Amino acid sequence: MRPIIPDYMTEALEKVRPDTSGERAGYIPELATADPERLGAAFAMLDGKVYGAGDIDTEFTIQSISKPFAYALALTDRGFDSVLAKVGVEPSGEAFNEISLESTTGRPLNPMINAGAITVHSLAGAQDLDPAGRVERVLHGLSAFAGRRLRIDESVYASEIEHAHRNLAIAHMLRSHDILTGDAKTVVDGYTRQCSVLVTTRDLAMMAATLANRGVNPLSGEQVVPETVVRQVLSVMFSCGMYDAAGDWATQVGIPAKSGVAGGLIGALPGQIGIATFSPRLDPHGNSVRGVSLFERFSSDMGLHVMEVPAAALAVVRSNHVVGSGPNALRVLELQGGIGFAGAERVVKEAVDNEPSEVRVALDLTRVSSVDDVARRMLLEVARRLTLGGHDVFLVDPESVVPDPEPGDGGRVTVVDTVDQAANPTRSGSAR
Ligand code: GLU
Repeated sequence: MRPIIPDYMTEALEKVRPDTSGERAGYIPELATADPERLGAAFAMLDGKVYGAGDIDTEFTIQSISKPFAYALALTDRGFDSVLAKVGVEPSGEAFNEISLESTTGRPLNPMINAGAITVHSLAGAQDLDPAGRVERVLHGLSAFAGRRLRIDESVYASEIEHAHRNLAIAHMLRSHDILTGDAKTVVDGYTRQCSVLVTTRDLAMMAATLANRGVNPLSGEQVVPETVVRQVLSVMFSCGMYDAAGDWATQVGIPAKSGVAGGLIGALPGQIGIATFSPRLDPHGNSVRGVSLFERFSSDMGLHVMEVPAAALAVVRSNHVVGSGPNALRVLELQGGIGFAGAERVVKEAVDNEPSEVRVALDLTRVSSVDDVARRMLLEVARRLTLGGHDVFLVDPESVVPDPEPGDGGRVTVVDTVDQAANPTRSGSAR
């Protein structure tokens, strides 16, 4: 059978290829010479599988796509309070290089515009690092997101730093508000190196997949940054990642995303996929023209908008039936799928609101694929209340989807592998 996903991606690339509108980033001379016809797209799945079409192994500089990752490193290294004291999380609705700060505090509005990102660079790594050490911290961190050692393109760095007047102006302004405490020129130098890290479309998809995978790189298995940091980064990408086009993007594409002026674009869909595209011509916002079209297409073809309403959790209770009869009758609540708050609420309703008349009750999790933290606590509370109501409670959990089932004060559950073991505890083997 021909591979379905790469075929689909190739077809999508051919649809956008004729669009030659837009311009390469002219303000960085080295980027203005990039081959404008390059075009690639990659999907990185959370098990590490990468699907690609077009130029997915061509290297280009990461530019502003480094911003969410450097933000993740700063939050991890310095903690939320110290980073939030210096950089806000409000969409600015302005261009990426706007010289603007919050009027009351002097903070940059968010970490995705240059003012915020320059500040964030200064917050990556320990406070006492020297400039080279800070660049190495960022390079090491970006590499961990990608799952391979990345390097800096010295000629793009040299080309940009020579023309970095605007970023220097921003940094001096930040210094005057004491948002930057070190030397403004040194910080811009480090930030420009951060933007000059070379990546491929494949790398970018993997970096996005690491965000989509709660901070765990799908290739190396490394927890690169904590889950709480990932949530913060994805939220800011969603509201601010596409600069002054963020509102259009949020409604039409609906995937937390970040673009870079070299033509890269990433999107991270939590729990599902990391996507990256590459095409150097940019629209007036600084976002890749063909990249934006590809993302619009991917989002609508594959239903990837984060606000797409998932199937209701009503079907979590697959059946509610009795096995056996007489005093040994066992009430079985057979559950299914992934259980979150709304799914667990169905179980509470079923078990507590209509308390079973049988003494023995089993929650059958054989068909349950995952139970999140709040659902786990709710299921164990159901078990506890049933015990307090005089029931013997069994958890049929062959895959241990509820690890360490400890229902707390006065609760008791017996964990078994099959409903049969719960129905005939003495006959078919012992409880775990
Ligand atoms: N290095 C570029 C700058 O600071 C990055 C801009 C971008 O990719 O949007 O201007």
